[in-house]
Order: sequence, then structure tokens, then C-alpha cells
Amino acid sequence: MKELIIGSHVSFKSADQLVGSVKETISYGANTFMFYTGAPQNTNRAKIDDNLTMEAYKLMKEHNIALENVIVHAPYIINLANTEKLDSYNFAIDFLKQEIDRCESLGMTKLVLHPGSSVKLSKEIGIKNIIDGLNKVLTKDQKVIILLETMAGKGSEIGSSFEEIKQIIDGVTLNDKLGVCLDTCHISDAGYDITNFDAVLDEFDKIIGLNKLMCIHVNDSKNPMGAHKDRHDNFGFGLLGFDNLINVVYNKRIENIPKILETPYVDGDSKRMFPPYKFEIAMIRNKKFNPNLLEEIRAYYK
Ligand code: FE
Ligand code: FE
Ligand code: ZN
Repeated sequence: MKELIIGSHVSFKSADQLVGSVKETISYGANTFMFYTGAPQNTNRAKIDDNLTMEAYKLMKEHNIALENVIVHAPYIINLANTEKLDSYNFAIDFLKQEIDRCESLGMTKLVLHPGSSVKLSKEIGIKNIIDGLNKVLTKDQKVIILLETMAGKGSEIGSSFEEIKQIIDGVTLNDKLGVCLDTCHISDAGYDITNFDAVLDEFDKIIGLNKLMCIHVNDSKNPMGAHKDRHDNFGFGLLGFDNLINVVYNKRIENIPKILETPYVDGDSKRMFPPYKFEIAMIRNKKFNPNLLEEIRAYYK
């Protein structure tokens, strides 16, 4: 059997950059990870320090973390769908170009992007704006693949159906530079039935093609199918449930694709928040639900 490729969202801080991300990954017992090149909610970015990157590579080698499985996530305030404020749209395009350069200097090849929200514009215009934006951003020599993330369909979010994602891919000239990141919380919120994941994969294959699927976000959801809310829950503790998520993680058709947890931190005493990943990953490897997991996390970090 192939080794499970699993990790979580980790931090990337200016002081130690990728070295810190890798150390955090190792502390969770993971063999891959996802990071934002700075804070997810803003676009302040430090210059990449190549010495730190080399040090991180050495650590990754020692711990069997393959570079090709590591994922970068673009900040979620980047919105290519809305051109009402041209400044923000142009900023998003410039930022994405720089983010691709940062990925290249870090040796990263997969960048997850939320397609965007059309806000007051129609979905059709939103999709056209995303296509135009990507056509401005992508270059034929880049090694970075942009993974469009499937969305929950909250507000005016684009990308809550495989058809919309496919429309974007078809509209982009250099679409060999595009892939897809499937988020279990988001697709359930969007109305896909996760209890029959093979049927979801069949549909994905029919509309987009499974060869485009390059990352899975394995999150539970606080809301039922079709809720369009986008509130992640800890693995097995939400409405998707442990067995359905385990079936996703261990599905043979996607065994070569990295699985990334973006489940919420657990609240402790005096407002401290604890990362659940070390415990969730152990539970996933164990394939057995532990109803006391959250208490064990609190006790461990206390
Ligand atoms: Fe995301
Ligand atoms: Fe996600
Ligand atoms: Zn989400």
C-alpha cells in the first residue's frame, strides 16, 4: 500500500520562514504541509531568504517530506472576480504574479487560490474577470500550477460547482498551469453528497477530469450539506463525520494526492488556542474515531 500523504496548514513566519514551517510539520507527525507566505488575511510579505530555504530542504529530506507534495495558499483577500474597484483587481493580479515568483524561489509548485467573489456583479461577469485575470498572470515558463479551490458558495463566491471551475479552466489560455484543490467542507456546503464520495469523484472526472485534481483539503463541516456557510470543524466532529472523511482520505483513486487539514484550533483556558493536527493525524493513521480527542488536545498543550 502507498504511504498516506497527509499534513496540515502550518505557519510561515518572517524570522525563520520555511524552516519554521517544516519544524511545525515534523512536530505534527505529518509528511507534507500547506502554508501562506505571510498572514492569510493580508498581503505583507517578507523577502524569501535562500539560506533558510536550503536549511528547510535539508530538514525535509531527513524527515521524508517531498517538495512536490507541499502546498502554498494565496491570501484569501485576493479577488480576481470583482472589477468594481479596479485598483483592488489590478493589485490582485500584481500580487499573484509576485506570489508565483515567491513560490518559484521557494521551489514550490502548487499554489491554491480561491477563484473569487463577484460581489454585485453577475456570476458570468465574475467568471470572465477571473479568466481575464489568470490570462494576465500566467506565463508559459512558470513551474507553479495554480489550484482553483472548490468553494462553499457563501455569498457571491464563484467555484461552488465543478461546472464553474471547468468554465474558468476552459477560458484560460495556458490552462496546463491550472489544477483544482477539492475541499470536503466546501463541496458538502455547496451541495455535493460526501457520503458517496466515489460518485463525487465520478462527477469531477466527467466534468473537469481527475488529472486536474492535485490537492484535497480534508475538513469536517459545522453545517449540513448545501448550507453554503463555510465553517470548518475538527476531523470527525462535524456533520460529515469520521467514516465519510476517512473514506476520502483513503480513497485509492486519489492516493497520490496530498491531503491537508484546515480544521480549527481547539479553545483552551484563558482564550488560548491549540493546534489539533498532531492528534487528528494520529487518529487518521489509526483509522479509529476518538471521541475524547479535543479533551486530549487541551490536556497536552495545557
Ligand atoms: Fe482555501
Ligand atoms: Fe480549503
Ligand atoms: Zn473554508
